[in-house]
Amino acid sequence: MIRRLDPGTRSKIAAGEVVARPASVAVELVENALDAGAETVEIEVDGDGTDRIRVADDGRGMAESDAALAVERHTTSKLSAADDLETVETLGFRGEALPSIAAAAARLELTTNDGGPRGTRVVVDGGGDATDGEHDKTVSPAGRARGTTVEVTGLFSDRPARKKSLASPKAEFARVSAVVTRYALTRPDVRFVLRHDGRETLATPGTDRFADALLAVYGRDAASHASTFDSSREVSAAGETATVEVDGALCHPEVTRSRRDHVHVSVNGRALAEPRLRRAVADGYGTLLPDGREPVGVVRLRLPPAWVDHNVHPAKDEVGFRDADAVAEAVESSVRDALSTADLRRSGEVAMDLDSSLAPVEAASVFDDLRVIGRFRGLYLLCEAGDELLVVDQHAAHERINYERLREAVESAGIDAVSVDPPATVSLSPTDAALLDANRDLVEKLGFRVAEFGDGSGSGTYRVEAVPAPLGRPFAPDALADVVADVAAGDDADPRDELLKDLACHPSIKAGDDLTDDEAARVVERLGSCETPYTCPHGRPTVLAIDEETFVRGFGRRSGRLG
Ligand code: ADP
Ligand code: MG
Repeated sequence: MIRRLDPGTRSKIAAGEVVARPASVAVELVENALDAGAETVEIEVDGDGTDRIRVADDGRGMAESDAALAVERHTTSKLSAADDLETVETLGFRGEALPSIAAAAARLELTTNDGGPRGTRVVVDGGGDATDGEHDKTVSPAGRARGTTVEVTGLFSDRPARKKSLASPKAEFARVSAVVTRYALTRPDVRFVLRHDGRETLATPGTDRFADALLAVYGRDAASHASTFDSSREVSAAGETATVEVDGALCHPEVTRSRRDHVHVSVNGRALAEPRLRRAVADGYGTLLPDGREPVGVVRLRLPPAWVDHNVHPAKDEVGFRDADAVAEAVESSVRDALSTADLRRSGEVAMDLDSSLAPVEAASVFDDLRVIGRFRGLYLLCEAGDELLVVDQHAAHERINYERLREAVESAGIDAVSVDPPATVSLSPTDAALLDANRDLVEKLGFRVAEFGDGSGSGTYRVEAVPAPLGRPFAPDALADVVADVAAGDDADPRDELLKDLACHPSIKAGDDLTDDEAARVVERLGSCETPYTCPHGRPTVLAIDEETFVRGFGRRSGRLG
């Protein structure tokens, strides 16, 4: 039964904008469908989503009186008093989504049936301000099988500023796709279908197997290199103990991406883009991942509702935890354990050296006065420079050198492309496919030639016919997903830049660990002649300096060498 929340409860609910863009509408409607126990959720988006978003489910539906109340403010079936806020287990609880969406759109049409002989249609027209319940609402009987369909048209049609702040239709759709994908992967028991302009871009089977959902999103290669896991950890805070259950599926470390967006997390059923938890997952992979690479996986957490606060963010993007560090630690150790028992055989990376293809250094090195005096753990070069001891991170230095060389080569000659013969088959996740669609020109300018697989089914399978080959080093065709993500992320700057950074950091073009004295000296000299020698392309330092003063103090000497 849907009722109106009392003012005391309302005042405790995080206030703010619920409907910021089409993807927020999609999230709210999908969450309502899941709260209603749907086994199938179908999402349709036209254009950028402001034209039309429609979400249909086969959940429990609503009786006529409830359907009429559902679009009013502060009406919910999920919460009755302020105390419940602590223990609510549904995804919704504010009774805000449907009225906020109705207020932001030209028209909201809800058709529902709770299993009775006939259903109900509620139409809220003309947007209008739902805060005072003044909007134009009509309720009429309608035919429909059990479940609910909500169709929203003309979103932001009377909010030109909001509408102008949206990105391109393809980019907005990519956001919708990202949130639907997150739910599709964390709820493999539910069948999700996503369509854009009538074309199916994602369909999971709802078999309750992670591998099947991963297959639908990331293709065969990723799905066949994944292991499921299931574990639990005790956490305690302020003298109380709780159990955190963690389960999911982790792709093996040979399946990586350049960004962390492919770590899909949910907390008590709510799929979230939580940076802390995503980082905890990546930390769990630890050194299994090549430098600068991010994992692909699905991780679900379950913990007592009182330990989680879903009420910290108006759009529910983030959650609060009673002890966030303990929860992150539980995630990290669960992932680490899961990977330590998984069969992770992988092909060794071939270490190559860029040197052969690099022109000799001509610019003067800022490290001219520097002498390599030793090495530590195959990772660091110890160097003497005046009264300082410099520690150079060999990998970071190499990345910087590679990056500047690549950039120079690309600036003077562009990026060469080489054809792939026979063409390689690559599958992209629906979100990446949407991003490719949105940025195809740029991706092709970089040297990729990509054709969609002929069947037009939107299966996300592509034929890569040519790849970029800067400095004569061809990209692997399946780097396409990374390149697409990089190009989409590189806002105003040269989109090639992100790509070059990743390429520079790719293990296959970094020198091996065992440098000869000569090579070590050359790395330092080259680093010194870089334009920005002190950071790697991703902004981490390449050199740390310890001046003699530190030793003087540390050893309790009164002065330095001369004293
Ligand atoms: P909330 O989800 O916070 O309760 P909403 O505005 O999203 O608020 O929805 C209001 C109410 O409408 C819900 O509490 C629920 O009872 C009902 N409702 C909304 N969508 C559905 C759906 N797809 N199936 C069944 N009931 C729904
Ligand atoms: Mg809701």
